[in-house]
Amino acid sequence: MKATFPHVGRMDIFIKGMTKALGMEAVVPPTNSKKALNLGVKYAPEFVCLPFKLMLGNLIEALEKGADTIILVSDRGPCRLGLYGLPLQIILKNLGYKFNWVTLDSPQAIKSSFQLGMIKGVEKYRDKLTFMDGLLAFHFGWKKMLATEEIERLSLKIRPYEINKGDTTKVFYQGMRAIEEAENLYDLKKAKNKAIRNLKNISQDRSRKPLKVAIAGEIFVVLDSFANLDIEKKLGELGCEVDRTIWFSTHILHHLGLDKFMRKSKRKAIQAARPYLKYHVGAECNATVGYAILYAKEGYDGFIHLMPFTCMPEFVAGGVLTRVSKDYDIPIFTVELEEHSSQTHLMTRLEAFVELLKRRRNQRSNQ
Ligand code: SF4
Repeated sequence: MKATFPHVGRMDIFIKGMTKALGMEAVVPPTNSKKALNLGVKYAPEFVCLPFKLMLGNLIEALEKGADTIILVSDRGPCRLGLYGLPLQIILKNLGYKFNWVTLDSPQAIKSSFQLGMIKGVEKYRDKLTFMDGLLAFHFGWKKMLATEEIERLSLKIRPYEINKGDTTKVFYQGMRAIEEAENLYDLKKAKNKAIRNLKNISQDRSRKPLKVAIAGEIFVVLDSFANLDIEKKLGELGCEVDRTIWFSTHILHHLGLDKFMRKSKRKAIQAARPYLKYHVGAECNATVGYAILYAKEGYDGFIHLMPFTCMPEFVAGGVLTRVSKDYDIPIFTVELEEHSSQTHLMTRLEAFVELLKRRRNQRSNQ
């Protein structure tokens, strides 16, 4: 079996770490790029959301690399994500690709996929692998994921202080590569500690007072730096300390019901949004609204809402956020992302937003 999956953010590090520890082969598609986007745009329906187009392009690249099984971790709606599987399969089959398809959209689906032998080739490993092997492999992949997120969080904190623009990004990617290459837990710990040391050693101007900005929105575009035009890096270099609300690990923990004690969990955000949204709208909508409230209460200077163009749940969130912005006195900037979004256009708008936040902060301190 040569399984593949759509590339989202840094999820590949987790999957690669896990499959490697199991001795299985995973065909990891290249990170999202202009090439994947162009392929997706060429074959996807015009008005479908950006994540669909990127996933399609990404899967074409993986099939070209020899993948024979596609695993899609999905949702059951109410937005289009619940329906992604079928159109993706039809388009890929019409293009002449041959593959097995597995949709994992519930614990039951995961169980039956294995029972029915849909994830073909797993039988080959079943005799050799024990439950313990599976557990250890998951643990290794998970640890890699956490190490990546730890250095990513740190880089978001250090970037607004860096003296030489680009230093943080350079050191961060070096650290990421070392974590990706680590073969065992010992090497992984060494790679992570070295990355943390190197990040802390970057020359910084600690007299600066960075603006505090939170980012929330649709999960794919929040996690994927290609899809969001590297907005975190741009904000950091404009002097903002960014706090991202969604991480791969927090998303998993939320779905497992293990985020009860986290300070700003999705669970707490959904709760905070209740006065505005009584029902579950779908995807991240309720959480996006709630996060804006939680961060406003914490005194954040601004809030950025990322949404793919034509995304139903985030479109609803955008409407509610207009009220939240007034009620909680926090500037909110909604960025709609699609295949024509340009780096320059986004940069100009971000500069204007950051300027507004700076003036606001100055006015407040003068008062
Ligand atoms: S949440 Fe939005 S972007 Fe994501 S699949 Fe649903 S409609 Fe598309």
